[in-house]
Amino acid sequence: MEIFKDLIGNEDIKKTLGSAILKGEFSHAYIIEGPYGSGKHTIARLASAAIMCQNTDTLPCKKCNLCQKILNDNCTDVRFYNAFKIDEVRKIKEAIYESATECDYQVFVLNDAHKMNPQAQNALLLSLEEPPKNVIFFLLCQDANMLLETIRSRAQILRTKPLTKEQIISYIKRNTDYSAPDSTLEEIVISSYGSLGYALDMLNPEKSQALLDSRASTEKFVISMLNLDTGVGNLLSSMFSWQRERVKELLSSSLVVLRDLAVIKKSKNAPLCFYTSQEQAKEIASKYSLKKILDLIDAINEGLYNLGFNASIAGTLTSILASCN
Ligand SMILES: [Zn+2]
Repeated sequence: MEIFKDLIGNEDIKKTLGSAILKGEFSHAYIIEGPYGSGKHTIARLASAAIMCQNTDTLPCKKCNLCQKILNDNCTDVRFYNAFKIDEVRKIKEAIYESATECDYQVFVLNDAHKMNPQAQNALLLSLEEPPKNVIFFLLCQDANMLLETIRSRAQILRTKPLTKEQIISYIKRNTDYSAPDSTLEEIVISSYGSLGYALDMLNPEKSQALLDSRASTEKFVISMLNLDTGVGNLLSSMFSWQRERVKELLSSSLVVLRDLAVIKKSKNAPLCFYTSQEQAKEIASKYSLKKILDLIDAINEGLYNLGFNASIAGTLTSILASCN
């Protein structure tokens, strides 16, 4: 029997959770950990459907009544909660003693479980320790370490893995009517760092344009600093009035560009995080010495550190520029 046919990548989860479901020996509580858009909801949905589906060839079959309801978030026994405070957790504690109406199990999916305050987590603990039969919890979180040890020890932790560029591009081409040029799609996908959810979100034309603009201005900033263009002074002064967070964001993204330029100098096949083509990165990197690139990385890191301690934006940018001379 095949399980999780539609889950892209995440072979470890397919293996551990999939075989537990096939054997009927799944845990009553799972923590699914991973960044935004990494498929945590999809995994909780597919697992719930696989558990309830009665098909014998493939789980979930996606065709039966329960699969359709669960996969469309339309099943009364598979519920999603945002429960960060104790009152909200108490409602879940009451609900777990109701009986399932259409499925064999009641599934409770807690979104952003890392945002639960300690009182809420403690309130949930008893439900995880002695859950009624036929109750399954999925706690979705970005960082399982933000959950109490007592919670973590009562659940099995599954970690999502970033998808490859090829996996994301092929999914988008097969499942969406995306029609912009491939070069734009590649820029979106490289910016997603392996998150399908982020990439899908960025297909919205307004969002993708904003992303392309922001990538272009980050690269312009880096190249102007490396070249010490005549306009670099004006470029920096225009940033003096920016919000602190915006400056920090630009500096952090600049580090990604510089990181690519540094690694491509060492190996022409190095995997990149900003540039979509190794040839392009190599050509740009060839104009600067490795020392110049690394010095700018150091200066920006120092600037980011200082900005974290309320250093002035103008002073920070000016000293980054001074280090380039
Ligand atoms: Zn089914």
